[in-house]
Amino acid sequence: MSKRIVILGSGESGIGSALLAKQKGYDVFVSDAGIIKEHYKKELIDYKIEFEQGGHTEAKILNADEVMKSPGIPEKNEMMKKIRDAGILVISEFELAYRYKGNSKIIGITGTNGKSTTTSLMYHICKTAGLDCALVGNIGYSIARQIAEKPCKYYIAEISSFQLDDIQTFRPDVAVLLNITEDHLDRYDYKFENYIKAKFNITKYQTQDDFFIYNADDEVIQKYYPLLTINTNPLPFSMKQELKKGGHIKGDQMMLRIQEERVSMSIYDFALKGKHNQQNTMAACIAATTVGIRKEKIREAVLDYSGLEHRMEFVAAVRGVDFINDSKATNINSTWFALESMTKPTVLILGGTDKGNDYSLIAELVKDKVKAIVCLGVDNAKIKEAFKKLVPKIVETQSAQKCVEACFKLAAKGDVVLLSPACASFDLFKNYEDRGKQFKQAVLQL
Ligand code: ADP
Repeated sequence: MSKRIVILGSGESGIGSALLAKQKGYDVFVSDAGIIKEHYKKELIDYKIEFEQGGHTEAKILNADEVMKSPGIPEKNEMMKKIRDAGILVISEFELAYRYKGNSKIIGITGTNGKSTTTSLMYHICKTAGLDCALVGNIGYSIARQIAEKPCKYYIAEISSFQLDDIQTFRPDVAVLLNITEDHLDRYDYKFENYIKAKFNITKYQTQDDFFIYNADDEVIQKYYPLLTINTNPLPFSMKQELKKGGHIKGDQMMLRIQEERVSMSIYDFALKGKHNQQNTMAACIAATTVGIRKEKIREAVLDYSGLEHRMEFVAAVRGVDFINDSKATNINSTWFALESMTKPTVLILGGTDKGNDYSLIAELVKDKVKAIVCLGVDNAKIKEAFKKLVPKIVETQSAQKCVEACFKLAAKGDVVLLSPACASFDLFKNYEDRGKQFKQAVLQL
C-alpha cells in the first residue's frame, strides 16, 4: 500500500508538495481550512489529487503516515495540535523535496533579513555563468514543484525559518546564514532561542562535503554557533576582521579565500549599494565560488545585477530630491541598515503595524542623519514618543499620497526621502508591495 501523505495548506508550497508526492506514488490528500485558489484547484483536479477546503476532516488527516505542514500554519493551529498528539511525523516542503533531488545541488539561503536579495543575486550569478539552475523557496516558487516539473542541477533556495522547522534530514550542499535578529516571535512561543534554533537547522545535517557560509559579525550567530557540533566546512564572512578563509572587506576591497581559490573585487563595483548589501553580495560571491563559478563571471554578474523591487529601490529624483523605496523593511534591523547607508540629509518615513520595535536601536542614526520623520500609519504614538527629542519635525499621514506630499515639502534640494518604515503595512495597505507601489506612484505624480 502506498504511503499516505496529508498536505496541510494549499499555497505554493502545499500544491508543489502535493504534485511531487503524487508523482512519486504517495496517496495524497490536501486539506485547507480556507479556500483553495482556483488555479491551484484546477491543478489538483488535473492530477487527480483528493482535496478539501473550508475545514479539516480529522478522520482523513489523522490516518496519515506523514503530514507536510505549509510554512504559513502555526503550531497553535487546532489541527496541528491533534496531529502532534497523534504522533504523526510532520515534515516541511524542503524535507519532502530533498528526498527527490537526485544528484542536484541545493544552495539554501536563510537569515532574518536579506534572504530574497541574496538568493536572487546568487541566482543571477549562476545564470550568468550558464548553470542549469532554478530560483525556488520563499521567494515564490515551490522547490517541490520545480523538482516534479523541471528538475535541474542547482536549486537556489530562499528558506524561511518556518521552512526549517520540520526537517529531519534536509541538508543543503551550500548553506548561507546571513544574520539573526528578533522576528516572528509570535510563531516561536515568544522565545528567541526557538527562532535561533530553527535558523541553525539550515546547517544541522551538513557534512564535510558541504559548506556553511555565515556572518561572523552577527552577535547572535557568534554566540550560538560555537555551541553546536556541526561537521561542515565553515566559511565565515566579515566586514570588520580579516579572515583566513571565507570572505572579508578591507578598505574598499572584498577578498575571498575559499580553499585554493582567491578572489578580490572593489566594493564600488557592486551594483547593490549599502553596507547590508555588501554583506549580501559577499555571501553570494562565496557561495558562487564554492560551486566553482569563475571569478570573471562572478564579477560580471555582481556588476550588472539590477536588484529587487521595494528593497532600497531608487524611484526618482524630483527637483533634486531623491526618493528611495525600501518598503520591504518591516523590522528595525532593516531600517538600521537603510539609514546607515544614507549619505544625504534624510526625510524618513516610518510606521505601520509595529511588531514590537525597539526604536532606541536606530536613535543614534536618526539623530545624525534624519531631518524630519513622516509617519505613515494608523497609530504613530510610539514613534512620536521615541523621536520627539531627536528630530525637529515629526508629521503624521495616513495615505501614501499625503505622505509623499508632506515629505516633498520637508525636503530640500540635495536631500533624500527614504521609505523604510520598520513596520508591517497591514494597517493601511494590503502588503509591503502595495505600500511600495502606492509610494512610487505618488512620487511619480509630484
Ligand atoms: P528577506 O527576504 O530576508 O525579507 P530582503 O532581501 O527582501 O530580505 O530585504 C528585506 C529588507 O531588509 C529590505 O528593507 C532590505 O533593505 C533589508 N536588508 C537586506 N539585506 C539585509 C541585511 N543583510 N541585513 C539587514 N537588512 C537587510
